[in-house]
Amino acid sequence: MTTEPAGTPDEEGLRHRVRALLAAHDPAATDRLAFLRARFDAGLAWVHYPQGLGGLGARRSLQGVVDAELAAAGAPENDPRRIGIGLGMAAPTVLTFGTDEQKARFLRPLWTGEEVWCQLFSEPGAGSDLASLGTRAVRDGDDWVVTGQKVWTSNAHNARWAILIARTDPDLPKHRGITYFVCDMTDPGVEVRPLRQITGEAEFNEVFLTGVRIPDAHRLGAVGDGWRVAQTTLMNERVAIGGASIPREGGMIGTVAATWRERPELRTPDLHDRLLRLWVDSEVSRLTAERVRQQLAAGAPGPEGSGLKLAFARLNQQISGLEVELLGEDGLRYGDWTMTRPETVDFFGRDAGYRYLRAKGNSIEGGTSEILRNIVSERVLGLPSEPRTDKDAAWKDLPR
Ligand SMILES: Cc1cc2nc3c(=O)[nH]c(=O)nc-3n(C[C@H](O)[C@H](O)[C@H](O)COP(=O)(O)OP(=O)(O)OC[C@H]3O[C@@H](n4cnc5c(N)ncnc54)[C@H](O)[C@@H]3O)c2cc1C
Repeated sequence: MTTEPAGTPDEEGLRHRVRALLAAHDPAATDRLAFLRARFDAGLAWVHYPQGLGGLGARRSLQGVVDAELAAAGAPENDPRRIGIGLGMAAPTVLTFGTDEQKARFLRPLWTGEEVWCQLFSEPGAGSDLASLGTRAVRDGDDWVVTGQKVWTSNAHNARWAILIARTDPDLPKHRGITYFVCDMTDPGVEVRPLRQITGEAEFNEVFLTGVRIPDAHRLGAVGDGWRVAQTTLMNERVAIGGASIPREGGMIGTVAATWRERPELRTPDLHDRLLRLWVDSEVSRLTAERVRQQLAAGAPGPEGSGLKLAFARLNQQISGLEVELLGEDGLRYGDWTMTRPETVDFFGRDAGYRYLRAKGNSIEGGTSEILRNIVSERVLGLPSEPRTDKDAAWKDLPR
């Protein structure tokens, strides 16, 4: 028996629509972008989104049915790794807080990957305490004039658009004087400078904003309500980072297990024991992600997503460390220190040294492990919260 609301397609309905899409746009004979646009227009991009915005209002859990059918037919995909910030963070925020015009303008090229997004949140001095940010946005007619500095901005060098939070009222307490915008990265006054990482590459950047004019039509949510809007982004970010759907041994544990199977001469009882423990932990984490996705299918992501992101970071660091140990001298060799400007984080196309070094950032990006533990203790376990003495003071009066 189906529990679909009237008018929304069930599993069979979606299979039927996939067949119709494939019949009208043979993947073997259709340009990649043309196929992706047609898929979006058919409501098969993210089936739980509303009609006209890439979806059909169907159950979110049915997306897997569509993805599997299209993959089996050899249809192109939109490379979610390259557009992870757009898909994981910008899209749910635009959907929840955007105007009809904003949704119509941004969501289609975001999903097809024609337009890459980045996230202008962190600042020097405003990372974990993000609400203390100092980038200013001052109203000037129909525009806002934005000046400040952002940091650690992944993919800013490829991005057309950014989600941006800025201070619009310094007289209010820090959480209340913030507004959320969409910033055009090609506008005058936006300067992107590479930051080289421990891996040698520069996947993220410093971004300097000097008198950047953002039209009020590119504000997301009400003036002063930016902290609430940002919570939607951050909750989704944690699930996007830690909650991907992967098959058993599909993550980093699979790479290490494969080395283990192929090279028996590298094994010791101690490494065997540690690999087994991490294998079990990975499986627990993978199945927990499935539960969090089901929770997400039923509504908004909860604070449990923070626990998942925490586990993902810990496991990635432990597994990549074990891999380096397992490979001995080979593991210490690092392939290439040339500074590159990658479009994606490539955990599986690179060597063990890269995985080991890149995994260090997992416990910082998207909220540090310490902060996520605070969130889990306060919002999942109900423990007392940290004292917040600056909660009611005007931002301009806070010590900096
Ligand atoms: C690879 C990578 C990619 C990133 N990409 C982006 C991006 O695209 N866009 C973006 O906006 N940001 C991005 N970031 C920034 C990231 O979100 C911040 O680095 C992070 O939130 C931590 O802030 P911070 O660096 O200012 O450290 P701080 O907040 O200064 O923290 C320093 C240390 O103190 C601890 N600490 C701070 N406050 C507390 C507390 N109350 N209780 C316990 N411990 C505490 C922290 O956990 C940490 O260990 C990225 C970071 C990395 C590493």
